[in-house]
Amino acid sequence: MSTLFISDLHLDAERPDITALFLDFLASEARAAEALYILGDLFEAWVGDDDSSPLIDAVRAGLRDLIAAGVPVYFLRGNRDFLVGAKFAADTGAQLLADPCLITLHGEPTLLMHGDLLCSDDLAYQTFRRQVRDPAWQENFLAQPLAARQAFAAQARAASQQHQDGLKASNALEAITDVSADTVTETLTRYGVIRLIHGHTHRPAIHSLRSGGHSAQRIVLGDWYTQGSVLRASADGFDLAMLAL
Ligand code: MN
Repeated sequence: MSTLFISDLHLDAERPDITALFLDFLASEARAAEALYILGDLFEAWVGDDDSSPLIDAVRAGLRDLIAAGVPVYFLRGNRDFLVGAKFAADTGAQLLADPCLITLHGEPTLLMHGDLLCSDDLAYQTFRRQVRDPAWQENFLAQPLAARQAFAAQARAASQQHQDGLKASNALEAITDVSADTVTETLTRYGVIRLIHGHTHRPAIHSLRSGGHSAQRIVLGDWYTQGSVLRASADGFDLAMLAL
């Protein structure tokens, strides 16, 4: 049996084919899994668990059905859906994970992250992240009417695009939006692990590296923009695969 890892689906009403691919994945391959881990950015945006739309309702139902069929689902929030909360967990049955989260995967300690914390060279983003992860900020934000929160999210997306365009213009985009190698090894050392799985950078790969004199592994999940992407972990090893639309 495989444990499945996905991230960065960025589900959005503008890409219904990706939502359909994900719902099909939940109803087919995921049913045979030991567990499903969603490592953030399942949704393109999330302004609170009280939001609803045909897409949100369909995803909630798909997760609920999978969990009812006996497959545990774990959800680690990303930079787009960091406001997923206790109500979403109760509605679906998914279990929320901290970032980072240490698990034992087929006997091996494995650290799970969304990945944005590893992009420590992007100082502007890290400042923004600290602000929106502050419990007081979140409480204040979630107390606003849904329409105001949706308007803020649209504005934040435009600002993020502008930030990316600025980095692109200065040819810094590739480096700044990837992980910092130092932060990766510091993180592995801090948690005493030699294996890390994360998403966020949309650069799927299985990297070998050295950390504290040991061979270590950093596995990066792929996005779901023009295809799906899944990491299958079994006792035999890892398979990082694409899912065709
Ligand atoms: Mn992300």
